[in-house]
Formats: sequence, C-alpha cells, structure tokens
Amino acid sequence: MTNLLQRIARAAAAVVDLGAKPRHRFHRRVSLYPRRVQRAENRNHFVPRRGLAIRRAYHLGRASIRNTNEVIRPERCIAPARQAKLEWMGANLAVPGAMVRDLIESRGVRDALLWFTREKQWINEMHLQLCRIPAPTFLEGERAQWMAAQFRSLGCDAQIDRAGNVVATVQPRPESAAVVATAHLDTVLAPRSKEEVFFDGEGKLRGPGAADNGAGLTALIALAAVLKSVPPLTDCSRELVLAANVGEEGEGNLSGMRHLCKQSPLARRSPAFLVLDGAGTDHITTGALGSRRFEIAFSGPGGHSWSDFGIANPVHALARAITLFADSTRAALKGNGPRSTASVSTVEGGSSVNAIATSARAKVDIRSEDNRRLEEIVQLLTTAVERAQETENQRASGARVFAKLKELGSRPAAKLPENAAILNYVRAVDAHLGIRSRMECASTDANIPLSLDMPAVSIGAGGQGGGAHTPDEWFNPDGRDLGLKRVFLTLALLLRED
Ligand SMILES: [Zn+2]
Repeated sequence: MTNLLQRIARAAAAVVDLGAKPRHRFHRRVSLYPRRVQRAENRNHFVPRRGLAIRRAYHLGRASIRNTNEVIRPERCIAPARQAKLEWMGANLAVPGAMVRDLIESRGVRDALLWFTREKQWINEMHLQLCRIPAPTFLEGERAQWMAAQFRSLGCDAQIDRAGNVVATVQPRPESAAVVATAHLDTVLAPRSKEEVFFDGEGKLRGPGAADNGAGLTALIALAAVLKSVPPLTDCSRELVLAANVGEEGEGNLSGMRHLCKQSPLARRSPAFLVLDGAGTDHITTGALGSRRFEIAFSGPGGHSWSDFGIANPVHALARAITLFADSTRAALKGNGPRSTASVSTVEGGSSVNAIATSARAKVDIRSEDNRRLEEIVQLLTTAVERAQETENQRASGARVFAKLKELGSRPAAKLPENAAILNYVRAVDAHLGIRSRMECASTDANIPLSLDMPAVSIGAGGQGGGAHTPDEWFNPDGRDLGLKRVFLTLALLLRED
C-alpha cells in the first residue's frame, strides 16, 4: 500500500511538473539513465518537434491513429473539440508516463535495458537455432520441446499444455493475476534443411519464419534470460507467464490461444495479453480483424464427357456458385460500413479433360472488422451455394450434384477500448523510447482474448522483417534491442497493476 501511495504521489508530482515545464521533460527523462545507456538510447530517439506533435495530433480519432507523444500540448491552430481530446489524451498518458519514469529508477529494470543491447549476439544465435527447427501449423511439437528446454535452462518452470502450447513462468505466483507474453510457434512454410535458414553477409537472417514468428519467439527467450540475469523486479503484483502457442497461422484457427483463454487455468486469472508477432516497433494492433473461412465442395457421380453429357456437373455448379457469390458480395462490400472483404482463394476439381468431374472444391476467405457484417457475407455464400446446386440439378437430365459448405476457420472481430490501461502503457513506453507507432486492425492471436473482453494488444518484437509467408522471408536484427526494451517496459508496467 505504501508503495502504491508513493507511486500516486510521484505521478501527481510529475503531472504538475509536466504542466509547469513541459520543455524540460525530455532532458530530465534522459538524465535518469546511466551515461552508457543514454548514448545507446539517443541513437534511437527521435527528437520531438513542434510540427511533428501537431501532425500526430491530427491523426487522433481516425481509423489509423498515430501514436501520441507525452509532450503534445494544445496548439492554437487546433479546433476546440480536437484540443479537448488532446488534453484528455495528454492527461491520460501522464500517469503511465510517470510510471515509466518510476520504473526505470529501479535497478532491475535499468540492468535489463542494458542487457538487451549487450546480448545482441546471443539473442541472434538463439533466433537462428529456433528458426532451423521446422514448425508448420499442426506440427509444432519439436520446436515446442526445444522452447521448453530453453526456458528450463534459464531457470523457468515450463510445461507443454494439452493444446501443445509451451507455458513458462519465471517466478511462480499461481494465486495472482497473470500477465501473459505470447508468441506463436507455427509458421506457414517450414525449412526442409537447416541450411535454408542462415545469416547472410549483411547480417540479415533469411529463411521461412525468420520474422513471423522467429522474432516473437526469440523475444520470449530473451525475456526469460534477462529476468534470470538482473535483480528481481520490485512492486510486482502479477505473475509473468511466457507462452509459445500453437495454431496461429491459417487453418490453425488460433487453437493455441483459444486454449489459453478458455480452457487453461490462466483463463481464470484475469489475464492481460501482450502478443509478440513478427518484427518492428511501428504498430500496436488493437483491432481484431474477424474472419470466416469455408470450403465449398460439389460432388456427383461423374462420367464420360460425350456419352454421359447431360448429368449434373460439379465443376459447372461450383463455377456458378462462385459467380453468384462474387456478384452478391460486390454490393455488400461497397459503401461506408465496416471494412470487409470476400475472396475465393483456391479452386480445384476434375480429373481429365474428357471426363465429367466427380468433385470440385473452392476455398473462401471472408474478413471484416465487424461480426455482424461477417455473418451477412456468410449468408450470401450459403445462398449462392444453394442456388447453384438447385440450378445445376434443374438443368440436369440425369444424376444430380450435392453441395457441402464446410467451415475451416472462424476468428471473431473485436476492438480494445481506447482508454484500456494496456494501450496507455504501450503508448507511454513508446513516448519514453521515442518510438512512433500507429494503431492497427489485423488478424492475430489477440483476436481471441479481445473477443472475450480480456485486455490484449499485438506488437512486433523489434528489428525489421519482410517476405512473411514466403521462402524469401528475412529478419534484420538491427534495432531489435529497442523493440525488446519496449516489450520489457510494457510488461513491467502491466506486472505492477494492482
Ligand atoms: Zn505471425
């Protein structure tokens, strides 16, 4: 309680201070660091300028929201309503901002920030090793075992749960609320040999899964390692859990995260989730893009293209279903509603040019920021398939076709409230580290906790990456330490939450 009161007093003092002398804030903040850290940090800092603050301010309230910085002050050219919003945002960030300054006064945190810069080479080596273990969706076992072994060697208590997720704790406090840092184990493509994943001459890691999600998994290992190396964090009232989860990509349908949020004991411990996915420090995913995925399958007896002509044809029926669906969604996807998309992604069927096919299939991907809109598009798909079957069978003189619509995946849409503490923490940390980030809506593991009203954001794990889901995927570890500091400070703030 004393600590809490002290923190509130410090925060209040900082707010007053902020109002009185805003221009000195950055100097004061930097001076909290030992000189060695200052030099390392300054390279990554952007220097706040007046114009920049205004430009950022104008992005508030839009779909793509630029991160606000603590130093934003009302400017004369800003409209009153906008100005009120800015002041609110400023006030909202002031307390987390003071909490960040309070945090870095503790020795454990200061040492940890240094550690991320000092241990770059070791972190890169772990990254290379883990990416060399293939882990395509549904086959994450070997990589999960490797992660569990790493966590244990770093002093964590690590288990593999029934879904296949690796769940590790640094300092177990099973009775307290949980802060869960997660990264998905699975990749869309997997290396066929170890040599397919390598550091090139420029220091970039190349190979499938290098960034998505080698970067996130490496961050989990770095977190376990740093917490073993530095004095224990003080004032923690929550338990940190590190989870390397299965089933994020494609037809994995977020199965690992569903287990963590619904069946695992973590679900009952008011968990907050920091999802680490891919590289970068430029985004905060607060919107969960929903999706529904289906396979359409038409089947019939098939026959000779000449002698059996006239029987119902699965390929013709499928082609009609696709056309009807594409036409009916065109109207629904236009206009001002929540952004939504519908795509027929794969088509296959038939066996020979001179045969009437026995089957034809297509896969469909439907996405929306809104669950109701998703449902409407699914209805259009169902209608298109039913009509296509009817029409094909009405025209047929012989055997009929049968249609089947199978759901392959469903990811709920959701949104983190703008005033959520977890978001304010990430933004306060970004302001402190000089990171410019934007809020984003995407399909990530955070969809599940967000749809269950559990606080969650998804962010990158630092460095830069590209070519996700291709054999040419790459990760550049330059600046990774900044991303890791961002992750670490955000978690430390969440751990302090009472
Ligand atoms: Zn990913």
